[in-house]
Amino acid sequence: MSQAIPSPSQPQWALAIDTERCIGCHACSVACKVEHAVYLGMFRTKVYYHDFQGRDAAGKQAMRRAFLPALCMQCEDAPCLKACPTESIRRDADGVVRIDTASCDRSRDCIAACPYGAIHIDPVAQVADKCDLCSHRLDVGMQPACVEACPADVLVFGNAADPGSAISRFRKKHGPELAVLKPEEGTRPAVHYRGIGSVVPRAVERKLPKGRNHDPFTYEVDTWPELRADYGTVVGKVKGGA
Ligand code: SF4
Ligand code: SF4
Repeated sequence: MSQAIPSPSQPQWALAIDTERCIGCHACSVACKVEHAVYLGMFRTKVYYHDFQGRDAAGKQAMRRAFLPALCMQCEDAPCLKACPTESIRRDADGVVRIDTASCDRSRDCIAACPYGAIHIDPVAQVADKCDLCSHRLDVGMQPACVEACPADVLVFGNAADPGSAISRFRKKHGPELAVLKPEEGTRPAVHYRGIGSVVPRAVERKLPKGRNHDPFTYEVDTWPELRADYGTVVGKVKGGA
């Protein structure tokens, strides 16, 4: 489906994620689960934990833990949209990538095409499902549920076309520090992160699955030591039922 052209009065919804403030509490992903009744083991929003060797506050080498909230990146050049055989995915004039569930044929081509693990098939509704920035809340002037739930003001949301909005002020203040995940995929994500490559090492990107939904096992407590050693092996063991 073609991309709509924004008019001057059209809001441009945008999200930024300040990893420097994230405490890994999962309030955002839990709020998302509740808001959208996301089925067990499937995710619209997921918080990744990443352990690495770094420096503590005193400058000494120490194990560090970083947190990465992840969701649909609302890509400007979205591979899910191009892959959908029924043209059920569109990027609207307000910058949000949405799925028309009425015409979704559950072919999973969108899931296979997404580099960020953002889409799953809702096993009850039997249609593809992903973050649409809580469009039903935007319609009535509310913020996305994850933004409202975060106790640390990590998720900055608003109308990027309004220079006075929270997102515009955040972008102005932190512009040079902002980055996208997996830039090599060329999807031009509209979700921008602060702290990628510094607070959160880029190695965390390897945990975001390409071609399937977020893995429910990536933050199980009993896999943390193995995750540190070899993330890929752990996922293989879990999937193999070991
Ligand atoms: S993150 Fe995935 S689902 Fe979201 S717009 Fe990009 S390709 Fe599509
Ligand atoms: S709710 Fe906020 S602090 Fe907690 S994990 Fe999500 S983004 Fe991080």
